[in-house]
Amino acid sequence: MNKPILPNPILPGATLGVLGSGQLGRMFALSARSLGYRVRTFSPDTDTPTGQVADGEVGAAYDDLDAVREFAHSVDVITFEFENVPAETAAAAAEIVPVRPSGGALHIAQNRKREKEFLSRRGFPCAPFRLVTSLSELQAAFMDIGTSAILKTAGFGYDGKGQMRLRDASEAVNAWQELGGAECVLEGFIHFEREVSVVAARGLDGGFAYYGPIENSHKDGILGVSICPSPSISAKTAAEAVEITRTLCAALELVGVLCVEFFVTPGGGLIVNEIAPRPHNSGHLTMEAHVTSQFEQQVRSICGLPLGSTDLLRPAAMANLLGDLWEPKMPNWPAALVLPNVSLHLYGKAQAHPGRKMGHLTALADTSEEAAELVRAARSALASGRA
Ligand code: AMP
Repeated sequence: MNKPILPNPILPGATLGVLGSGQLGRMFALSARSLGYRVRTFSPDTDTPTGQVADGEVGAAYDDLDAVREFAHSVDVITFEFENVPAETAAAAAEIVPVRPSGGALHIAQNRKREKEFLSRRGFPCAPFRLVTSLSELQAAFMDIGTSAILKTAGFGYDGKGQMRLRDASEAVNAWQELGGAECVLEGFIHFEREVSVVAARGLDGGFAYYGPIENSHKDGILGVSICPSPSISAKTAAEAVEITRTLCAALELVGVLCVEFFVTPGGGLIVNEIAPRPHNSGHLTMEAHVTSQFEQQVRSICGLPLGSTDLLRPAAMANLLGDLWEPKMPNWPAALVLPNVSLHLYGKAQAHPGRKMGHLTALADTSEEAAELVRAARSALASGRA
């Protein structure tokens, strides 16, 4: 039997506001527009990846609360596409229109101290950690945690930025000079076997849908390749990852999309590394691989519509295209597009810098390993034949 329809959904024709203007907002906007919504984006920049495909783009500082309120008056609901939007911005917008997910979920996820405290207080498995605000606290925390640790700034960290590995106590001074001054979290180093993520959506009625676990490989702290389904984790570990994600979404009273990144230890145990209350890079493959993409789920959930099916159509792999690939000149697009079952997504960014996410490729195949091989071949092909 179909689930009951929620009262008063925000229907196609309405205008959806997104705080932030990067590629996640762009793919959200494309999904929203194909469902017949209008989209407006708010960020300090203009001609942004999101703004290029939105109906309207406001360029103002996040702490310009008058501009935020004016923006809120022009839309029917607000979501965000990156989590470093200040809490006051979300609060000012929420006085005028629903903000989904709530500013509370955003507040927890945007700061590693609050995130770790939330996870450990609620009994979710996470790496041992200590809050440090001075060199002497860092030295004491290092002795406490043991042999190997990672120092991370509490705020504004992403893609492995703002973090340093500490292998022995003598490295503390240098690490504190690099990152200290700001509040930091010292985390025990986890000798994991692999990294997986679960991307989930939760509706206004508490309905839950998920993708994955998706298996992720990183290079220099940045996601390189994601594959789905994960070929190497057991059914038991996969079910546990989904259950943790479901409980976390409920604990945050989430309305929207959330990604949980996990470390899988050699015994198949799970440790939550990070949560992001928005669509996630590892979920980009859902656009081709699943009946409903993570971006469509974001639209559906924030509008109070029923969530879509997350059935897997075909095993898939996604490879990020970083700015490095633009050196010495533009990638060889036809060389990748000639491959069957490979899709290209570019984010409309004019400047390619090393490490900057410029786009991604998705490949479909009979198994996720074959898809991974194909997507890697497609990415290598981009660097070929352009001398
Ligand atoms: P993060 O920005 O916290 O997601 O970290 C980026 C990457 O650094 C992760 O995907 C891991 O590969 C690695 N990393 C972060 N924290 C730890 C940890 N406690 N132990 C081992 N590796 C870690």
